[in-house]
Amino acid sequence: MNRASASAVALPPRPLASAGAAAAALPGWHSWRRRWECLGPDCAEREGLRSWCKLPARIQFQQGWCCGLECLEAAVELHARRLLREHETHAPRPHRIPLGLLLLSHGQITQPQLRAALDAQNLHGGRVGEWLVRQGAASEAAITAAVGLQWARPTFPLTETQAWRQYRGWVPQALLESLGMLPLYFAPASRRLHVGFTQIVDATALAALQTMLECKPLACIVADSAWNAAMEESRGIPLKAGIENVALTDVEGPEEVAAITRQYARVAGAREIRLAAAGGYLWLRLRGQRLLHLTLRPRTRPISL
Ligand SMILES: [Zn+2]
Repeated sequence: MNRASASAVALPPRPLASAGAAAAALPGWHSWRRRWECLGPDCAEREGLRSWCKLPARIQFQQGWCCGLECLEAAVELHARRLLREHETHAPRPHRIPLGLLLLSHGQITQPQLRAALDAQNLHGGRVGEWLVRQGAASEAAITAAVGLQWARPTFPLTETQAWRQYRGWVPQALLESLGMLPLYFAPASRRLHVGFTQIVDATALAALQTMLECKPLACIVADSAWNAAMEESRGIPLKAGIENVALTDVEGPEEVAAITRQYARVAGAREIRLAAAGGYLWLRLRGQRLLHLTLRPRTRPISL
């Protein structure tokens, strides 16, 4: 990576809301007290003047604070447990018109072409759209447009821009690859983040981006081949100094998630931590002396809670 491209990489935006923003709406003493309350469920110094003594050790977690690593671990465990339970009970079940039927109804493919693609899919796996392109029944542009119709989202000409390079390091590579996703453009004034998806617009990914970056994510559809090329290029370029990705698999459950977070928070000197779930991963963003993305994939499904 040359110096020019390295300096062009933008750092992820800082969250807008301070830890005490929610508390600011409360009146007087309650507001002041809530502002300093520790998120640790069993914290002995949850509120009051004693927590002032722990100011240097305080760590921001989500929209609140923890008075130290011990309370951080407990708060992360609680939050991770809730996220994993939500994702287990609310598994995404997209109800969309099948791509092949959509193309057939628009007269873009014939019945025999669809049958051939479905047969190939049954035999070899993969997606119907891929087989239609491989068998010459439809162009990739037609498939991308049809996916856009399926999700009622616009398509984005990814081959015509390199703007996505600026946002490398905003989302861990493991998540991008798992979700077929790519941040494309961020408008700082409106905090809108345009995000490309190849096949499925994952609602959990959009919610995670909102939590982690406090942005307004807007989904669009990009072509498979352009996304693959961007991913290949992205894998070959080291991240900007100060940003690091750590991906761990076979994580046992919320307790281990919390223990790992505590360990990395200590090593990275993290002062600000965010946690979200997307694409079968828990995504932790630790900001301290450097920015560390932790992606943790739980061991089994369903996860023991
Ligand atoms: Zn505490």
